[in-house]
Amino acid sequence: MVTGEDPNVIEVAYRGGVLVPAIDLWMDPRVPQGLAFVSHAHSDHAGKHRETILSAGTSRLMRSRIGASPQEHVLEFGETRELRGAQFTLLPAGHVHGSAQLHLETEGGSLLYTGDFKLRAGLSSEPIAWRGAETLIMETTFGKPEFVFPPAEQVLGDMVQFCREALEVGAVPVLLGYSLGKAQEILCAVAAAGLKPMLHGAVSKLTKIYREGVPGMPEFAEYEAANMAGHVLICPPSVRNSRMVQRIKKRRVAMVTGWGLTPGAVHRYQVDAVFPLSDHAGYNDLLKYVELVQPQRVLTLHGYASEFARDLRRRGVEAWSLVSPDQLEFAEMFEGL
Ligand SMILES: [Zn+2]
Repeated sequence: MVTGEDPNVIEVAYRGGVLVPAIDLWMDPRVPQGLAFVSHAHSDHAGKHRETILSAGTSRLMRSRIGASPQEHVLEFGETRELRGAQFTLLPAGHVHGSAQLHLETEGGSLLYTGDFKLRAGLSSEPIAWRGAETLIMETTFGKPEFVFPPAEQVLGDMVQFCREALEVGAVPVLLGYSLGKAQEILCAVAAAGLKPMLHGAVSKLTKIYREGVPGMPEFAEYEAANMAGHVLICPPSVRNSRMVQRIKKRRVAMVTGWGLTPGAVHRYQVDAVFPLSDHAGYNDLLKYVELVQPQRVLTLHGYASEFARDLRRRGVEAWSLVSPDQLEFAEMFEGL
């Protein structure tokens, strides 16, 4: 789909990634491209492109995950650089360490692309910043009203309590969270509560890279089966049914995920508890972000993109999903012009 029939806004297309045709720039494309902005190092956003624009934190994380691109443009947050006649500025997205939004000024207009983002201040990611733009392209993973998260302090407090209760009965608390981002926030909360964190190898590897860019990352023990007693084990969700976890005789296992808000999450994840902590903006924060940026139009992608765009239109904001059935509605609207 191509948007931009309105001459006053920048033309944008979605082809397995967001494309700004005027300067042949891709944002988080899934397949290798020429010039691409990589918003953060999660694998659904990170690709190996000929030329990449990214933050220093994302660059370090990418090197450990898929390797560096032949040509990297590493920008500091807030620094503006000219490329292909456009002004590029990266702003922190608050999602995980290094995660960036791209603010773009071109002759055709201004644009803010969020990548994945959250408004709440995480314990291990740079706090979000924003800037006004005519077009806002935003992720809407949790773009339905049922996804309003409880305060993070409360969720983390409940998680710490779960760990204490497990330790009191001689069990090993096992906290499952994605190894890039979620696990580091869990680590910070566990250490701040005076508990002793022990990290799975995948988490430990990324946490060491965090140390280079995030001041005050806590000390932790590396995973060691014989030395687990008295520790809180932090692992990626994929190891839930692995031997590593299954052979811990006395354990209490919890999943830490925004999807914990959905009914039946404890049964679905087959765990003792679920804590709904997310690295994405909940529904209310998505609405709030549109108010903060004050765009002329909003383009949505990921998750409930159509539903959220429809809600915005009901509120009088021009909004369209870049990736779902709205494409049809959008095309019909412009055919009618
Ligand atoms: Zn992400």
